[in-house]
Amino acid sequence: MTLDEPRLDFADPALHAHGLYIGGRWIAGGGIPVIDPSTGQPLAEVPDADLSMAAAAVDAAAAAAKGWRETPSRQRSEILRRWFTLFTERSEEFARLIALENGKALPDARGEVAYAAEFFRWYAEEAVRVPGEYRATPSGSHKILVDHEPIGIAVLITPWNFPAAMATRKIGPALAAGCTVILKPASETPLTAYAMARLGEEAGVPPGVVNVLTTTQPGPVVEAMLADPRVRKLSFTGSTGVGRTLLATAAKTVTSCSMELGGNAPFVVFDDADLDAALDGAMVAKMRNAGEACTAANRFHVQSGIHDAFVAGLTARMSALRIGPGAEAQTQVGPMITAKAVQKIDRLVIDALERGARATTGGKPIDGAGFFYPPTVLENVPLDADLAHEEIFGPVAPVFRFDTEDQAVQLANDTEYGLAAYVYTQDITRAMRVGKRIESGMVGINRGLMSDPAAPFGGVKQSGLGREGGVHGILEFMEPKYYAVDF
Ligand code: NAP
Repeated sequence: MTLDEPRLDFADPALHAHGLYIGGRWIAGGGIPVIDPSTGQPLAEVPDADLSMAAAAVDAAAAAAKGWRETPSRQRSEILRRWFTLFTERSEEFARLIALENGKALPDARGEVAYAAEFFRWYAEEAVRVPGEYRATPSGSHKILVDHEPIGIAVLITPWNFPAAMATRKIGPALAAGCTVILKPASETPLTAYAMARLGEEAGVPPGVVNVLTTTQPGPVVEAMLADPRVRKLSFTGSTGVGRTLLATAAKTVTSCSMELGGNAPFVVFDDADLDAALDGAMVAKMRNAGEACTAANRFHVQSGIHDAFVAGLTARMSALRIGPGAEAQTQVGPMITAKAVQKIDRLVIDALERGARATTGGKPIDGAGFFYPPTVLENVPLDADLAHEEIFGPVAPVFRFDTEDQAVQLANDTEYGLAAYVYTQDITRAMRVGKRIESGMVGINRGLMSDPAAPFGGVKQSGLGREGGVHGILEFMEPKYYAVDF
């Protein structure tokens, strides 16, 4: 782009429907409609890559690999830093684009853009700080020298709920480590990924270092890429079910996997918690992205003494939220991503109500255009309700009562997932004791938001493998190499 050209409006969906981004070229095509979840109407169409395009993307990433890994880390760092600056300058356009294609309310979209951009800044800083090791062997026979090398070509697969942040959380560390990548964004929200690729070109990312493709056949396309021996890394964020399938696929070529999968976060409130702080935290933990977050509080376990006041406070706050199209200024809760997502939430709520739960607000989908489900609070929820075990991924807060600390821990751990957990108490000793006993990768103590580019994000049990962010994230894209040295 030259200076006299009019500046492109990144929030315009039509701008990003120009094609797959492979080897620095835009390859035109169509076949995947992008739907505005606020209206149910099409916004744009993006190309549908087949196996030959997947092979072309791997070729492009391979052609760029040597040059990129040999680019001095300072230079790689500066490109990431420029990407951060451009992203921040265009943050409002990106927020509007995300609000349009994902449906999330503008304040959530703005929060996502700020969070997403930070991964470029953080990994611009980490690129030049990759650690090594030097030590003597215990026997004294030789020295141990450990270097970290880029792992190789990485396939990155992202979900629709954070179209920008899930991509930058992978691209940032991969590029900082010296890897070239192929990004496959979710079919529901590809426009943000293509917009980011355009910005990457402007920031100076060389052709082939970042490739982006969309497809209606993610299974075969990803399988073909993983079967190529030049691909050495799969970094996936999405559901546990798809994660399991991909682990099996990657096993065939013993490809390294990082997996950020589903969650079923418990939000535990003890009698001695600061009620207002717990309610503030509950609203963030439940309603960021209208509940469509892997860290979303899925189950509220509340001690008997504070239970009724908590339910009353949560009901008042949830029922006061303004529902509407994501991109409208006054909206606090946007639509769900698809009609199917609304049907799933509806099924879970009906199941809970049939088993004896009571809705203190909400409880039924909203009729009309778009995919809306209202903020809902359920009390008296039995522990065998489906929503105690499945990810709700929507604005529904089921509240369960408990009496003792042991009971709270046992309930919190009663899930195959282990991503995030929240504990509210003013007794910090108890907070740490309970936090230690909860099986999860992350624990929010008197805090409803834990995502931070400087912290290791990830889960235990069936919530995943590996960590993104922090000083850990870059090592997911590197292999340690040990040199046995006798000087
Ligand atoms: P999903 O259905 O698993 O899809 C995620 C991505 O995988 C999409 O790009 C999808 O492509 C692709 N995909 C689907 N089937 C595939 C296959 N057989 N082979 C290769 N790729 C395939 O998940 P989602 O519904 O988009 O996202 C919601 C889930 O993500 C929730 O479970 C949530 O908890 C989890 N999540 C986890 C984290 C975390 O950090 N732990 C963060 C955000 C979300 P298509 O769109 O083309 O189908």
